[in-house]
Amino acid sequence: MAQPIIQAIRGMNDVLPEDSAYWQTLESTLRELLARYGYQEIRFPVVEKTELFKRSIGEVTDIVEKEMYTFEDRNGDQLSLRPEGTAPCVRAAIQHGLLHNQVQRLWYLGPMFRHERPQKGRYRQFHQMGVETFGMAGPDLDAELILMTARLWRQLGLSNLELQLNSLGTRESRAEYRKELVAYFEQHRDALDEDSLRRLQSNPLRILDTKNPAMQDVVAGAPKLMAHLDDASREHFETLCGLLDDAGIAYRVNPCLVRGLDYYSRTVFEWVTDQLGAQGTVCAGGRFDTLVEQLGGRPTPSAGFAIGLERLLELVRDNLQPDTAPHAYLVLVGEAAQQRGLLLAEQLRDALPALRIMSHCGGGSFKSQFKKADKSGARLALILGEDEVAQDTVSAKFLRGDAGQGQETLTQEALPAWLADKLGV
Ligand code: ATP
Ligand code: MG
Repeated sequence: MAQPIIQAIRGMNDVLPEDSAYWQTLESTLRELLARYGYQEIRFPVVEKTELFKRSIGEVTDIVEKEMYTFEDRNGDQLSLRPEGTAPCVRAAIQHGLLHNQVQRLWYLGPMFRHERPQKGRYRQFHQMGVETFGMAGPDLDAELILMTARLWRQLGLSNLELQLNSLGTRESRAEYRKELVAYFEQHRDALDEDSLRRLQSNPLRILDTKNPAMQDVVAGAPKLMAHLDDASREHFETLCGLLDDAGIAYRVNPCLVRGLDYYSRTVFEWVTDQLGAQGTVCAGGRFDTLVEQLGGRPTPSAGFAIGLERLLELVRDNLQPDTAPHAYLVLVGEAAQQRGLLLAEQLRDALPALRIMSHCGGGSFKSQFKKADKSGARLALILGEDEVAQDTVSAKFLRGDAGQGQETLTQEALPAWLADKLGV
């Protein structure tokens, strides 16, 4: 009896071979860039205690209120699939003593989980490359983070991202502003949606971050946090702007930029595009100077950002040129050739470590094998038939742009040097 087919969970995507080459290319570009700035990778589990996210992200946030995959495990512990990487990264850094009188520049890359409504650029399992730094309080570090992302966009051929900047000041300077903001929204209760009414007392700043188009006017008219910044935060922000000006990085100060997560202070930034519809934020970050303390560590200035890789890939896919196709496909006609071919391919891999060669398995006619050689994307078909086996030779035929070169027969002995020369491997 035929079994029903089991489908993947909605909003959780498979990456198929034709796409994984693009992911790999993007990921290696990221890794190389991070190494150039001296950042080191950290890996932490996909599952953490729910408490970690409640205490860091904040109870009154979309993520904790309605997006987390939370469950009780067999011991009765409350666990959650990580919805973001900052809290686990800070947790790991505290737990392993990485923050004691040390400066850290860390990065991570991996899947995050949020139960959102799936749509283009918004998934339930998505991937972030994130950077977190510890022990550097100044605006020079904020500028480094932004310059690093700007270099990444240049390297990927992206020229139309807009940098938006804001400062959230300190918790203390926000308190005064908060009162003014609540008073303003109280006057405009009619314009607030259900979520915002609920946040009015618990987390009024988050109302500024609303995605509800009907609320854009009331948000635009709200008092501005910039006007309430403490002196030190103002100076921090002005220095950062100066550093960006010096580096020729264009930006727009967006007073409504508050970020969805509670733990930010001072600098916040987003890189935004208008090419992904409503899901326009590709990279978001900022400073979170109080988070380490909030999670039980010693006060440690911290800042970072996260890039949504699905959104980034959507933007840059056409600029990436994955180089993963085999260089050569070995066509093996006849039983003797099948045996000899397997060994020949091994000898070639020994001689040429950079060579990517696929050896045909499973027999079949010359014609059907040749079709597979072509489909593999290889530049070159190497052919071993009865004659070639008998004479210790191989025939070579170029399959791509250089296909006009016809077919050539060489001795097996001469093959490694010939391949090295023709393929540059
Ligand atoms: P958004 O406002 O789009 O919901 P966010 O403020 O919730 O984003 P962050 O928590 O700051 O996002 O995450 C950083 C980045 O991760 C986002 O800018 C985005 O590129 C990406 N991202 C966040 N949620 C998703 C998702 N559900 N699917 C795909 N990418 C996402
Ligand atoms: Mg979100």
